[in-house]
Amino acid sequence: MGKTSKDKRDIYYRLAKEEGWRARSAFKLLQINEEYNIFNGVLRAVDLCAAPGSWSQVLTKNLRQNAVNTEDVKIVAVDLQAMAALPGVKQIQGDITKQETANAIIEEFQGLKADLVVCDGAPDVTGLHDIDEYVQSQLLLAALNITTHVLKNGGTFVAKIFRGKDVSLLYSQLKQFFKLVTVSKPRSSRNSSIEAFVICEKYNPPEDYVPNMVNPLLDHKYFDLDSDFNSFTGINRFIVPFNACGDLSAYDSDTSYSLLLEGQTSYEYKNPIQSPINPPYKDVWEKTKKMKINHVPK
Ligand code: SAM
Repeated sequence: MGKTSKDKRDIYYRLAKEEGWRARSAFKLLQINEEYNIFNGVLRAVDLCAAPGSWSQVLTKNLRQNAVNTEDVKIVAVDLQAMAALPGVKQIQGDITKQETANAIIEEFQGLKADLVVCDGAPDVTGLHDIDEYVQSQLLLAALNITTHVLKNGGTFVAKIFRGKDVSLLYSQLKQFFKLVTVSKPRSSRNSSIEAFVICEKYNPPEDYVPNMVNPLLDHKYFDLDSDFNSFTGINRFIVPFNACGDLSAYDSDTSYSLLLEGQTSYEYKNPIQSPINPPYKDVWEKTKKMKINHVPK
């Protein structure tokens, strides 16, 4: 397969390189913002699970554009993995399930709360759907927990969600903390993926709620309810509106496009903006490279 084949198959991968974004995911956040205006009035933002950093790039660009004084804009990015530096973004290499990570974010904002928390977190997928959905839901709940420590009342939380069979429980959890919960599928997110994004607006935790890192899915109270989360009724069950976002004229992420896009007369291959700096597969990759060099074709 040639170098350009991915550019043909994945238009957002190609556009990300051409526009200078570190990952194609940048378009998901941009399309969510087109629909929900989530950057409006935001000065302090947290990017959870941020590496390689395209959402932090989108945040920096948009928040600075909107701010009267760019120095007031503060962005904190958290990831388990090291991320190449980005101007204007304070990085914390840490685990979003840990209390010390919440404390480190609070310290960065010097006691002030964030206006917006975003989370594009994804665990390594196993290919076993039930397990992947479960682990993704745990990550979302960890993101919600850490958000309750750092988000101001009235603030916004945007997070990746897998629309699996027990998704109703997650919606009910989120609805306890936010006045408005919507689920959205940006056009740049492949139809073949069960990924979507929850847009949780107007943070309003239950009265007397004390932020903690307890995982509600593992809390015994939930297992008393027959273990069937979808059987929840009343306040525990909330059907959120589903909404596709991104202009209909935007590229379709599941379509292959010709290398010459409409209106273009030439095509030039571009390398990804930022290669991973220390990927988990580095050892294997280097060994394979060496094997290729040592292999003398007959
Ligand atoms: N939004 C990013 C961007 O636009 O560049 C892409 C995020 S990538 C899809 C998912 C990230 O989640 C990975 O970098 C992974 O290290 C991170 N992650 C997964 N579990 C995490 C955890 N418990 N704490 C912090 N980061 C985590």
